[in-house]
Amino acid sequence: MADIKNLNLKELETVITSWGFPRFCAGQVFDWVYKKSAVDFSQMSNLPLDLRKRLAENYVLSCLELVKKQQSKDKTEKFLFELADKNFIEAVSIPAKDRVTGCISSQAGCKFACRFCASGQLGLRRNLEVAEIIEQALYLKNYSAAKKLTHIVFMGTGEPLDNYDNVLAAIRLINAKDGMGIGARRITISTCGIIPGIEKLAQEKLQIELSVSLHAADNATRDKLMPVNKKYPLEQLLRCCRDYVKKTNRQVTFEYILVKDINSGLPDARRLAIMLAGFDCKVNLIPANPARNLGILAPPAGAVKVFQNALSQSGVKVTLRQARGEDIDAACGQLRLKYEPRCKSE
Ligand code: SF4
Repeated sequence: MADIKNLNLKELETVITSWGFPRFCAGQVFDWVYKKSAVDFSQMSNLPLDLRKRLAENYVLSCLELVKKQQSKDKTEKFLFELADKNFIEAVSIPAKDRVTGCISSQAGCKFACRFCASGQLGLRRNLEVAEIIEQALYLKNYSAAKKLTHIVFMGTGEPLDNYDNVLAAIRLINAKDGMGIGARRITISTCGIIPGIEKLAQEKLQIELSVSLHAADNATRDKLMPVNKKYPLEQLLRCCRDYVKKTNRQVTFEYILVKDINSGLPDARRLAIMLAGFDCKVNLIPANPARNLGILAPPAGAVKVFQNALSQSGVKVTLRQARGEDIDAACGQLRLKYEPRCKSE
């Protein structure tokens, strides 16, 4: 049965009026789903009984089953969910001083096989439905220890621009006042650099944040770390990002994972500074989070500092992301990877 969160308000109004109930009942259902966290249609006490029955006969209210929860000593919480078809996805709640960020997945698996990422190791299983995306956010808001969610980043399993329509539909519901009501500027799409997706996003008139994974300042190094670079090489990606900034008036953030002996030397920092000169952007440095079997290590703290200083001295806005949840399998896809083989053998 379909999950009711796959429908936006208009679509639900169409369904409900076609059953002979008033349009405003759709708004009441939305209120129960998004504001009152209902888990069963029988809880929707202000709806006519017949409508509750009809809804329960045609829709479900939940599509994720929690399989495992890990909590870090820094309060980062990671949740592993099983989908109806036995695929697994992860979502993470990351509390900080003035915010709680939910890192959510857009696909079961990923086809882009970035070298530093556990999510890409098993390939793409399938796109997530709108409801499966939204329910991760609702779950973090309702059941994480923080019991709230102020920001959302699409940095979990999957490439959000490879599941464009469902991710955008989910974002509109997460952003809508009658949905979760999270401000667009608090929602970030993070992409490995899918040029057609970025071009499409520029037309959406959405105030969301765009974050692009760069991870290298030359094509040879980026080819090694991110096979997608062969299709969308750096110079084309940078041109596309500059166009995005021009069209949307929004800044782009470039993510740069620092990997020991691969992309974290001073010459890399200098190349990156030259490449981004005059670009209205921010660089987010992330020391690599070692993942099982990936052969990836973070550079020493001193080398990270040298890299950061070289960028800021060249006028590039740069921040260093604090590692979170290092004592639980916090790097993208690690927890899922532990469970996937179990899933396949069952
Ligand atoms: S980093 Fe993102 S795009 Fe790359 S393999 Fe992992 S999930 Fe896919």
